[in-house]
Amino acid sequence: MKGFVDKDTCIGCGLCTSICPEVFIMDDKGKAERSKNEILETLVASAQEAATECPVNAITVE
Ligand code: SF4
Repeated sequence: MKGFVDKDTCIGCGLCTSICPEVFIMDDKGKAERSKNEILETLVASAQEAATECPVNAITVE
């Protein structure tokens, strides 16, 4: 599984990076971006929680 961030939708709140910093980080423009790597099995639930909690639904995990 991988995480995807729609940067046009992201409002830069930082919540996803708090919930799952192993998968989501902030870029130098203040938008979230994802790790390019496959999400480790142990981090899938956390990445999905970040997607659920994103206030503008900018994250997809699939
Ligand atoms: S939680 Fe959503 S809006 Fe907030 S930084 Fe992450 S992707 Fe952007």
